Order: sequence, then C-alpha cells, then structure tokens
Amino acid sequence: MDARAVEVALPLPLQCTFTYRLPEGAPVPARGVRVLVPFGPRRVIGLVTGIATTLPETMKDVVEVLDEVPLAPPPLLDLATWMSEHYLAPPGECHRLVLPPAGVRASRAVVRLSGGAVSPSDDDPVVSALRAGPLPLSTLAKRMGRDPTARIARLRREGRVEVDQDLARPGFRQLRIAVLTPAAADLKPRGRAQAEVLGRLTAAGGRAPVPHVLRDRPSLRGALDRLVEQGAIAIEEERAVRTPEMLEGPVKLRPEPTGDQASVLEPILAALGAGFAPFLLQGVTGSGKTEVYFRAIEQTLEQGRTALLLVPEIALTPLLVRAAVGRLGGIVSVLHSELSVGERHDQWWRLREGDARVAIGARSAVFAPLTEVGLVIVDEEHEAAYKQDESPRYHGRDVAVMRARLEGAVVLLGSATPSLESNHNALAGKYRRLVLPRRIGSQGMARVDVVDRRQALKAGADPILTPPLRDALAERLARKEQSLLLLNRRGYATSLLCRECGMQAMCPNCSVALTLHKGGRVALCHYCAFETSAPRACGSCKGEYLRLTGYGTEKVLEAVRAVLPTARVERLDRDLAARRGAVARVLASFEAGETDILVGTQMIAKGHDFPRVTLVGVVDADVGLGLPDFRAAERTFQLLTQVAGRAGRADLAGEVILQSHRPDHYALQLACAQDYDAFFEREMEFRRTMAYPPAAPLVNLVLRARDPLEGAEAADAVAARLRGQARGNFRVLGPAFAPLARLRQEHRFQILLKGRRKAMRDAVREALVERYGSVRWPGVAVDVDPVTIM
Ligand SMILES: [Zn+2]
Ligand SMILES: [Zn+2]
Repeated sequence: MDARAVEVALPLPLQCTFTYRLPEGAPVPARGVRVLVPFGPRRVIGLVTGIATTLPETMKDVVEVLDEVPLAPPPLLDLATWMSEHYLAPPGECHRLVLPPAGVRASRAVVRLSGGAVSPSDDDPVVSALRAGPLPLSTLAKRMGRDPTARIARLRREGRVEVDQDLARPGFRQLRIAVLTPAAADLKPRGRAQAEVLGRLTAAGGRAPVPHVLRDRPSLRGALDRLVEQGAIAIEEERAVRTPEMLEGPVKLRPEPTGDQASVLEPILAALGAGFAPFLLQGVTGSGKTEVYFRAIEQTLEQGRTALLLVPEIALTPLLVRAAVGRLGGIVSVLHSELSVGERHDQWWRLREGDARVAIGARSAVFAPLTEVGLVIVDEEHEAAYKQDESPRYHGRDVAVMRARLEGAVVLLGSATPSLESNHNALAGKYRRLVLPRRIGSQGMARVDVVDRRQALKAGADPILTPPLRDALAERLARKEQSLLLLNRRGYATSLLCRECGMQAMCPNCSVALTLHKGGRVALCHYCAFETSAPRACGSCKGEYLRLTGYGTEKVLEAVRAVLPTARVERLDRDLAARRGAVARVLASFEAGETDILVGTQMIAKGHDFPRVTLVGVVDADVGLGLPDFRAAERTFQLLTQVAGRAGRADLAGEVILQSHRPDHYALQLACAQDYDAFFEREMEFRRTMAYPPAAPLVNLVLRARDPLEGAEAADAVAARLRGQARGNFRVLGPAFAPLARLRQEHRFQILLKGRRKAMRDAVREALVERYGSVRWPGVAVDVDPVTIM
C-alpha cells in the first residue's frame, strides 16, 4: 500500500476527516502535525490524524507541512480522537481544543533563501523578494498580491528556499531587565539622573525591568543608556510572561491533616505514580477537601509529574485558586476566562514547555498541554458547568477521567453532593469512594427550618420575605452577622401579563416569556439575549393594563431594602457577572464584612467560605423543581445542600430557612436532612423506572429548522430510520417538540434515545449520514450523555 497520503482534521464543523496526498519526497508527517491544505476555494490549516489507509479516487495535495513535531503531547491527541468518537463531534473541532489558542489559523512560517543554492540570476519573484532577507509568509503574500504558498512549496522542493518552522518559539514579548554589574561599585555617578537610576536599581535589589527603573520619570532614559555604555549596568532580555492578576496570592500555611483527611489521603498517595486510579471523594461542605487536593498535588510534583485541577468556574472559586497559588507558588498556571488572548497564549506555552507544572481552570483546562500528568482533580464534579452546551458537547468531568486513563494518572472527583453518575460508578466498583464525613471545627451542620409558603401566603404574608425569614434577617443585622439570600432566578419580574386577555409578553425569536429587568423597565429573553424596553401595551389585544408577575433577584434586593433600610445589601448573579471584575468585587466586599446581606442566584452557593455567615435564606426552594428536565430533583437537592453548607462555618452556629410551596418533596426533605445516600436511593428508583442516566445512557438529538414543516419532516425521517436500527439495543422516543420549542427563530424537534451507548451512536451516525451525507449535518445537534434535555 502506498502510504503517501494523510488523513487531515479541519477546524470546521465537519463530521469527517479528509484525505490529502503528500508532496513527493516530503517525509511523512507525524500525527498531530499541522498541514496547510486546499479546501474549496480556501487554504486551511488542518491537523494530521494519521496515515490514510484507503485512498479515494481523487484527492488534493498537501500544500505545506507546517510543523516538524506535533504541538500537542500524544495523550492529548488521543483524547481529541476519543472525544470525536464518543460525542459524535467534528474531529477538527475536537482537535482544535488541544492546540494553542489561535494556533490553528495563524501560520508563523518565515521564508528564507537557501544558502548557496540560489543563482544570482534567479529571477523568480519570491526569490527576488527574499534577497533582502527572510520574510514572514504573510508579508510575502502581501508583497506579491496573491497567495505564494504553492510557489514556495515548489521552490522548497527544489532547494531554493527554506521555510523556518521554529513554531515552538512564538511571539513572546521580550522584557528588558537592567542589572547592576560589579563595575557599578567603582563608578561615581555623574549628575543627579545617574544617581537616581543607580539608587532605584539598588533599592530593587540590583535587578529590575527597565520600565520599572524608568517608572514615572521617562527622562531617566538617557542616564540609563550612559550607565549601560559605561558598563555599570547590563541589559538582559527575559521572556515576559503576561501574568494575570489572579496569580497573586498570600503564602498559606500547610496545616496538619485531620484524622479524616489523613485516612482518605492514604489510599490516594499510595496510588500516585502507580497507573490509572479513579477516586470519588465525597466530603461535606467545610470538611477540608482542599487540603487533600493540595497534599496529593505536592506528592505528584515530588514524583516529577504534573497536576491538573479543574473547578466549575474560576470567578466563583477565588479562595481555592488563591490558596493553590499561595501554597504551590509560581509553577501554577491559572487558565481564567478573563485572560486576554496574549495571556492565554503565554500560559499555554508555559505549560507546554514545563515552566508551569500545575494547571488550574474551568472545563477547557482539561486540555492543558501538560506532559507527564500524574494527577487530575475535578472539584465540585457534579456541577452542570462542566458540560459544554455547544459543539463539541463534551463533559469536562468525563473527559478528565479519560485523560487520566490515557496518562496513567490518578483522578480525584470531589463533591459534597456527587453526581448520580459518579456515585453509581463508585457503587459499581469503577471508582473507589472515599468519605470526609465531618466539618472541621467545633460546629456541626446548620439547623434547617422549612417555611410552608402556602400557609404564609394565606395569612397575607409578603411572598418574598415571610415573617420567620424577615425576623431572622433582622436578628443577624442586629448581631452584626452576615446572611445569604438565595433565589435561583435573576431579573426583576418573571413575566409581563395582560390583565385583559391574559397573554404574556413573549420573545419574538423564542417560545419563551420575556423576563423583566432593571426595575421592570427592560424586557429580556434569557435564551437569545433579545432585549427591548418593556412593552406599554399588550402585543395581542393592545390592552394597556399590564401586570408584572413573579420575581427574581432584583426584586428580592428591593424587598430586603424596604424591610431593612439600614442593611448593606448586594446582589450577585449573571447580570452582574457581565461586568468585568464585578463578581470579584462583590465577593471581596462580602468577605471583608462590608456587606450585611448578599442576595444571589446559585452563584452564591458555590465554594465560598464566609466565616461570618450565620443565616442562609432560600426565598423559593421550588425554583427548578418544575422544569421539564429529568435532573430537576437532583439539581434542587444539590443546590439546597450546597447553599445550606454556607451557614455557620468557623465558630458561629448556622441556621437555614427554606421557603417552599412543596415542603414535602423528597429533594427538599433530604437536602434539609443533608442525607445524600437516601436521596441517591430515591432518585435512582426514578431513573431506573424511566430509563434515564445513570440507569441507561441517553442520546439527545435536536433538529432545528426555520420552516416547521421541513423540520418535522426531517425529524420524522431520522426517527423512523433510528427505529429501524434499534434491534432491541435502544429505545427511540419522539420526535416531539423540544421543551424549548422555538429558539432564535428556529423550530426545535427532539428525538431521545435510551439504551446501549455504542449501538445508539452507530445508529445516529448512520441515520444522519443517510439523511445529510458524511460531511455536514446542518441544523442537527447530537448530545451524547446530555446534562439537560431542554
Ligand atoms: Zn392582551
Ligand atoms: Zn429569545
């Protein structure tokens, strides 16, 4: 067989790889090497996924092999391939995740003349352009006014030019450092400026970046230059890594592990360095999971390997990140969503080249280009934030487990309320389950009271703050203690209702009621971000008597201010998070005790540690229970358990008040009792009965179309095809309107598959190839192992 062709994944939403012929005489590139290839009218940079085993009748040629060695380490390439198969996701989109940011599209190739091989009379335009010196490919293209890549490839084969592929040294900024030399000791500074420069440098310990020496006095530049000429100061160049602010952290003490911590650490430490080993660490809030993480990371580093720590969202876990940086120092790389492109680029290369050996970040940090990974930690592994809701629809936790398997590493999934999937795996013996059953410190778990809102409302109470909650807030204020108030619904009002015809103001693009924000002045769609000023008249009957119904966090804030005018109240939700740095500011102010009451959505329930919070109020514990989603009860249980865990840490006793219309729902009851195992049993019964995960794997297929008839026809055809292939391996439900039947002007049809995962994937692939072909599946979203089926 002729192995002169390669399979190439293109960074486009295409379901297959493409075969390209290699230039004659070119060495066969390794898997993971980038190549420039023609695709339609364009040239695209793709990634070699392997040698082509079957050759199509016609193929195009690889224009240029761009790298000598793959940019990503081999286990990451395996991971991308696995993702593409497991999630039926476009291979190029999966591979793009393991490459440096912006590394796929930008070629940094520099073209130069080959030494000696070019005759002086050579009048090729490229050769002529290069006579003055090497040029980047992009500059060359501009000078020539057309794409020179094919010509360059030919010249290269003929040995007339060379293409510099030194891609491992991309555009780092060089920082100039001024260093005092021994000669400085003998030098008498001439003039005040020179004395000032020497003084500044001495004060900085004899070594400082030039901008630092010249700070607020750029006129010192001349004096600095003369001192350099005289040999008193040397200039060194250093790679300037753009350090994100988040990296600064206080150095933390290393506390002795408690007895509980020591007993869970023992098997983890024993497993490190001995191959793939998955653990589920269930630790109640405040039980000290973090110290277990840090000790495991420290031992991993001592063994010469690297570690990965995933968190659901960096902005919501500032304490963990700061503690990690304080404890582990400069070898930590924090992959934050607010990083600039330059900062992201720098961090990628720090990790790739081993300058950083611990990566901390959200979902996509699972692709951090570390080598020799010994430990992968997923904190709060149950969080839905780990699932990416656009293509490729991967689950960060599941990808983390797979990465650990490919690296031969230990994986540690931590949570106070493990996902049903992970606990199911632990009970099945796939994961080893470890438990931290107690909080550290003298306080036990908080006391939980449930207020039945039905009775409170009958008695004419305020629907937002019932008397018990209002009194409890007032009491905390008087004692100068802090309170958290949770309502998992942002905005001011949930809808605008016409009193005459009963119609709700709807989003013009989606089958969703508009939510009112900014005191009711702005109407917003939470799904497509459509925004308008609140309508003055009914869109249906033109009636002008409109009423705001329902309430969100904004209204809660207003209600608290009305009842407790002296309280310092702040709000934390997605609306606020849209402003850069706002989350950090609100959290810091609350942590510092400058806020009495923090009102917010689930964002306040996450891994914060507020020692002065003694009251947690849940304004409406039923939000979420009514959603048409099989995880509604699990989400509610997790959220209530998490938020209750915020009350009464340190040395103060805590109290939790839940307001509910359904106080006897098992998710509420068992969250109050903080009884995870009982909840797991009860919820698994439901999942088994309904054949939902983890009792049975699920694939959710959503077909979108502008034209509803066209969409329905496609969904019917695909579903019929799937039924024909089920053969008892899976069940096909639907097609039906998706719970969100219309989104961004498109109608959505849903087909649910329950059964054996491999059989479902094979059938879905076949049905979609049958309908749309093997390249593109337009308007189709395949979600394998969905977190939600909205
Ligand atoms: Zn009306
Ligand atoms: Zn909308």
